[in-house]
Amino acid sequence: MSSNNPHHHKLHVIFFPFMAYGHIIPTLDMAKLFCSRGARSTIITTPLNSKILQKPIELFKNLNPTLEIDIHIFDFPCVDLGLPEGCENVDFFTTKNNEDRDYITLKFFLSTSFFKDQLEKFLETTRPDCLIADMFFPWATEAAEKSRVPRLVFHGTGYFSLCAGYCIKAHKPQNRVASSCEPFVIPDLPGDIVITQEQIIDGDNESGMGKFMMDVRESEVKSSGVVVNSFYELEPEYADFYKRFVNKRAWHIGPLSVINRGFEEKAERGKKASVDEAECLKWLDSKKPDSVIYISFGSVAFFKNEQLIEIAAGLEASGTNFIWVVRKDDAGEKEEWLPEGMEERTKGKGMIIRGWAPQVLILEHQATGGFVTHCGWNSVLEGVAAGLPMVTWPIGAEQFYNEKLVTQVLRTGVSVGATKHVKVMGDFIISRENVEKAVREVLVGEEAEEMRRRAKKMAEMAKAAVEEGGSSFNDLNKFLEEFSS
Ligand code: UDP
Repeated sequence: MSSNNPHHHKLHVIFFPFMAYGHIIPTLDMAKLFCSRGARSTIITTPLNSKILQKPIELFKNLNPTLEIDIHIFDFPCVDLGLPEGCENVDFFTTKNNEDRDYITLKFFLSTSFFKDQLEKFLETTRPDCLIADMFFPWATEAAEKSRVPRLVFHGTGYFSLCAGYCIKAHKPQNRVASSCEPFVIPDLPGDIVITQEQIIDGDNESGMGKFMMDVRESEVKSSGVVVNSFYELEPEYADFYKRFVNKRAWHIGPLSVINRGFEEKAERGKKASVDEAECLKWLDSKKPDSVIYISFGSVAFFKNEQLIEIAAGLEASGTNFIWVVRKDDAGEKEEWLPEGMEERTKGKGMIIRGWAPQVLILEHQATGGFVTHCGWNSVLEGVAAGLPMVTWPIGAEQFYNEKLVTQVLRTGVSVGATKHVKVMGDFIISRENVEKAVREVLVGEEAEEMRRRAKKMAEMAKAAVEEGGSSFNDLNKFLEEFSS
């Protein structure tokens, strides 16, 4: 479809992201992408989350004055819903106590069904062509059905992890092993992928989160399909497998992060950076190509001091240049995690960002040579698009699946040695020796060069996928055609 054809029906797509940075960021990218291809995008969110979107949307509108993108705000009365005041985003949870966190997380997920009535009314009055709602909003399928609006699901993850999760659910191989750390091959999944019980999400219980995830799966079956942030060349076997056995109505349109083209757009992703972006790039300019390791664990994971101390010591011992992002919550006031004198000793070599980093800008800089990541899907894909070898350090959710894609399929990364899901990083400590060894492995030596070569090739494929005639470009075309008619 084309935006310059006045007679063409302009597709109106409503996007509804789950309220967490890892979901809001790619959804905004997706809404911008749809706009740039002639559609009109509306993003639904809550009052406090709308503040995250306002600035980047304003910027996008300034850069593209003819494109139509807007925010629509839904009410989310936290206190009435039994949540702490202002708790409109996973990032706003303050408690670090595991039990309290589990309780509030489940309550938060369940509370989102409060949106259902508002969504029904909104769809009834706006009559969009389709709704792309987050997987964590299972009630959205029924709400959309009422006004006969097709509901699409956005998982925020790639084909590989969706397929791995499907095969494990279907065969339950974890029930046939002697111990939780005994490796097994995921049945049916192409590639003989090896995993252990303690690395998978075993949400089959009938209560709490397990029941919620069952609702999620059921709503997906009844939906009009799924939109995937991935590109075909990254995981062809798994894209095929998914469409053959799991859901034939799937469209891959990624990597979404590459819709942000200029410095400003990249700098505006997510929160306001805790470092001057231009200074950060200037610092990188002073380093040799592929000589800096970037370490970040996304927007949710948090650490105990014991673990931060090991990372600090491992980085220092590796002797390499680094940019290390320590979340504000982790850093704390006293900074007991920072070895005495480390910042002075590594001056000029290392940069610690306390808070939020302009991740995409850093990853894309030629001085950045490796990425230590928790394997959140956005980070993995941003690392892929930047052509970087990775040190994989999964913590929870579907991150262990993403790790297997990187280490066993793409062979562009090495594991730091994280062997199981943890709630707080530090319940299971990765040693400084492991950190040092893994960082060296992706930066220097023949193996590193091989990984880099493969990673750079993959980045070229990522670029080609979103260009006119590329696999993601074409899949989005198919999507636009189908939902315009
Ligand atoms: N991110 C960022 N700066 C930070 C931390 C995170 O820009 O300091 C962005 C990152 O680029 C990615 C998203 O936040 O787009 C995190 O998503 P991901 O799926 O990697 O992990 P999650 O936060 O959901 O665990």
